[in-house]
Amino acid sequence: TAEAFARIDALDGEVGAFLALNKETATAQAAEMDQVPFSERGPLFGLPIGVKDNIVTEGLETTCASKILEGFNPIYDATVVQKLRAAGMITVGKVNMDEFAMGSANENSSIKPVHNPWNFNHVPGGSSGGSAAAVAAGEVPFTLGSDTGGSIRQPAAYCGVVGMKPTYGRVSRFGLVAFASSLDQIGPITRNVRDNALILEAISGVDEHDSTSANVEVPSFVDAITGDIKGLKIAVPKEYLAEGVSDAVRNSVQQAIDTLKGLGATVDEVSLPHSKYALAAYYILSSSEASSNLARFDGIRYGFRAENVANLEELYTQTRAQGFGDEVKRRIMLGTYSLSAGTYDAYYKKAQQVRTLIKKDFDDVFANYDVIVGPTTPTPAFKLGENLQDPMTVYANDILTVPINLAGVPAISIPCGFDGDLPIGLQIIGNYFAEGTVYNVADSFE
Ligand code: GLN
Repeated sequence: TAEAFARIDALDGEVGAFLALNKETATAQAAEMDQVPFSERGPLFGLPIGVKDNIVTEGLETTCASKILEGFNPIYDATVVQKLRAAGMITVGKVNMDEFAMGSANENSSIKPVHNPWNFNHVPGGSSGGSAAAVAAGEVPFTLGSDTGGSIRQPAAYCGVVGMKPTYGRVSRFGLVAFASSLDQIGPITRNVRDNALILEAISGVDEHDSTSANVEVPSFVDAITGDIKGLKIAVPKEYLAEGVSDAVRNSVQQAIDTLKGLGATVDEVSLPHSKYALAAYYILSSSEASSNLARFDGIRYGFRAENVANLEELYTQTRAQGFGDEVKRRIMLGTYSLSAGTYDAYYKKAQQVRTLIKKDFDDVFANYDVIVGPTTPTPAFKLGENLQDPMTVYANDILTVPINLAGVPAISIPCGFDGDLPIGLQIIGNYFAEGTVYNVADSFE
């Protein structure tokens, strides 16, 4: 813990990964835990972790990197935070993100941008940009992120670290500030696959506080790593290596696929025919859910409240006008529009129908294959500021990650090469609740 704080003090001025630090409490916890005999310590005992700032932490400011939550000190811990504490982990601080997890570059943080540790002129990805950069810079060995449409996997790919989006329902969302409730999942970002498996094991499981958490057994994900993938059936969707994927990404992913073949797996090309509609469906559905979830930020209950207002109506409108950033407002308007009586059938309902077809695409492939493999993103990290004026270009970055959230299946991003000084991510997608298989394939590269 002391080492993590020293490293944060030395580097974070340039990286920008941390928002609130938990120095006093964490240091006191660590000192107390030093007294516990080694025989009583589990595998995660005493290890420092950074927590994304949309996961509530008791008494530690939680802002979702939004002005509207300035000064909000939660009165309870999220289930994942409770579970990590029970496993002996120490929360050293809250990590930066895109405001309310909306973004792919961490440039929508209302507090400060995050810089990619591999090249400070490039973005770390988003929305869990702080989570990925903190691990890549060696500030902390582990962080938690959240993934609604790629927000764990895409920054993990851009920063050359390991990021897992579990099956929808695997991890409790209790205490995760909701963006799009039917898509959101919490997951670990780590330096290697085994660490990742260990942390997912600790945070998984049914929770009475989250009715969408799944009552399925949590196996040992670490034990699932056998080092043997002989005979495993791997599918490579042709849509994931199509136009828009850079040569460097295509070559690195191809090499990774050849490595898997060399280890005894069989590889076939398959099709996920509805992939081309995923991005449109995702942005309609996630914005619709966000417009409803973000209605609670009204200036009465949490954080920031506008001053000098004439009446209650103006208190609401002024708090929201001043408290939310541009991207959040864009999503609320888009979502409110697609849920309106005159447009519901054409947008929201149509997007739900597309979602069902996308889920069926995955079911069809998983009837015959163990995992699906492809790139995490079409290109490596872009330059800070490069796409600031152009939300559509940024949205296009999520084309290979959003279908996974729409279907609800698990997927990991692991490093598989470089383009110059920028890392490239390989995405390994599994069937529902088959995280163990995903980890086993991922670990075969290590
Ligand atoms: N980039 C996507 C978005 O902006 C995904 C965000 C996420 O997964 N939280 O919505």
